[in-house]
Amino acid sequence: MGHVKLHIPGPVEVSERTFRAFCTPMIGHRGQGFKDLYAKVQPQLQQLLGTRQRVFLSTSSAWGVMEGAIRNLVRKKVLNCMCGAFSDKWFDVSKRCGKEAEPLQVPWGSPIRAEAIDRKLATGQFDAITFIHNETSTGVMSPLEEVAALKRKYPDVMFIVDTVSSMTAVPLAFDALGIDVMLAGSQKAFALPPGLTVFVCSQAALAKAAAAPDRGYYFDFVEFQKNAEQNMTPSTPSIAHVFALSDKLDEMFAEGLENRYARHRRTNQMTRDWAAKHGFTLFPEPGFESLTLTCINNGAKPGGRVVDVPKLQKLVKDRGFLIDGGYGKIKGTTFRISNMGDETPETMSRLFAAMDEAMKEL
Ligand SMILES: *Cc1c(COP(=O)(O)O)cnc(C)c1O
Repeated sequence: MGHVKLHIPGPVEVSERTFRAFCTPMIGHRGQGFKDLYAKVQPQLQQLLGTRQRVFLSTSSAWGVMEGAIRNLVRKKVLNCMCGAFSDKWFDVSKRCGKEAEPLQVPWGSPIRAEAIDRKLATGQFDAITFIHNETSTGVMSPLEEVAALKRKYPDVMFIVDTVSSMTAVPLAFDALGIDVMLAGSQKAFALPPGLTVFVCSQAALAKAAAAPDRGYYFDFVEFQKNAEQNMTPSTPSIAHVFALSDKLDEMFAEGLENRYARHRRTNQMTRDWAAKHGFTLFPEPGFESLTLTCINNGAKPGGRVVDVPKLQKLVKDRGFLIDGGYGKIKGTTFRISNMGDETPETMSRLFAAMDEAMKEL
């Protein structure tokens, strides 16, 4: 059997065009060719992220920078906002970095609301929070603007925000949000191969990092800033990724960012419609459903249809598509379908045709 097309929420399908860019002949990372490449993507990334800060490129998966943010920015105590597998793990990672950490836990399926964070920050114990905009495990999109607005009340608290599975698919204006770190891995909505993380830091975050004695080297935010001023990265980057990113950014701007956001809204609505048509309900609390993937309830919550998820996955796979069977403690009692990256109404229709056929055989 040939390639099974990815509709899991990361890694997502990578186009042939992107792979061609990825396979551009290699260049040296301290030469003018690389500096020119870096300088070319910089204004595109700044526009995409809504920032005048330099945008950094880390050769690591998202977790590298998520852990790095803890090492660079937490001195006193971090508040880890937890609503799913990735945000829950950030609490564990904070402790593994030897930091004081406290969970702000809500049930999986619920969003993180500003009010709950406000109550915690009012204690004055915290100098950083971690917050995941789009919790990929539960398909919940928490209200980033509402949470970011708290920064004005707590200017000394570092707001570290994971936009791993929302960046490029929904508008994210870093400077206007006023947050301190925003990051995303390449294998989610960017639709690049895994292995690169795009991130940006506020001036306040860079100043705070500079005073952290034990921030290490590989994820030292100050090193990223110093090197970025020369259009370089601290260590040898995955240059193939930067070639692919450059081409992907050209593609994004040719489509137009607003069109890209609209396309994601449309393909996401198609997924919700498919679920409703077959009698399923959604796992997230209504009003907080992700726009880049859909987490379908399959017994995790009362109501809606329940099917044999491994069997559904196999029937869909036999037709050439990979869908996700649920993550962590909601494996099997939910399943997930990604619409992020390059997907269009046409490509989603092909997936749903295969899923319609599979449903008949269940
Ligand atoms: C995928 C994902 C991560 C982890 O990314 P890695 O590339 O595995 O490090 C973190 N946060 C969110 C929201 C994710 O979707």
